[in-house]
Amino acid sequence: MKRLCVFCGSSTGARPEYAAAARELGAAIAARGLELVYGGGSVGLMGILADAVLERGGRVTGVIPRALATRELLHTGLSDLHVVATMHERKALMAELAGAFVALPGGLGTFEELCEVLTWAQLGIHAKPCALLNACGYYDPLLALLDRAVEEGFVRAQHRALLIAGPDVGRLLARLESFRPPERLEKWLDLRET
Ligand code: AMP
Repeated sequence: MKRLCVFCGSSTGARPEYAAAARELGAAIAARGLELVYGGGSVGLMGILADAVLERGGRVTGVIPRALATRELLHTGLSDLHVVATMHERKALMAELAGAFVALPGGLGTFEELCEVLTWAQLGIHAKPCALLNACGYYDPLLALLDRAVEEGFVRAQHRALLIAGPDVGRLLARLESFRPPERLEKWLDLRET
């Protein structure tokens, strides 16, 4: 896991703790010598996160669709920038560049991005760890919904277990770094490559 892809809000949210979590994650990424891959914007938690990595000398790669470059105010100080044509290209490139995914608090875009990488893990399209930094319990209702989906027979327990969640940045990153894909998934990926 050399590059970490982080999904997060293009807003800062209502509580200062969300920005603090973005800063803490950014600082931890740089301190561990990891690189950040993210949506390339300078607004909201996206900008705070990127600045926190850059301020500590870390590398940041942004991937932004041309049409969003103005709305999300493209960050002009990044180490590397990919301007792509569509949202689909953005998500595919972010997923290809990164070895793991983390969602910070965010809105609809963040939910969509997290759900997509989780469903790709469920389908065996990738075997990269997916995590949620549950700052201030923001994602408690989503975690409860996922548990309910298992109880109600819509999500398998082993797929629910693909999501690593917690409020502590250090522990979350340690769990990502020690992640090993489930054996069955590894076998399936090997089969596809032959
Ligand atoms: P939000 O969480 O809504 O503030 O958005 C966070 C990031 O997700 C921003 O970079 C948005 O451009 C991006 N985003 C918004 N809608 C989508 C979508 N349908 N698919 C993927 N990313 C999106």
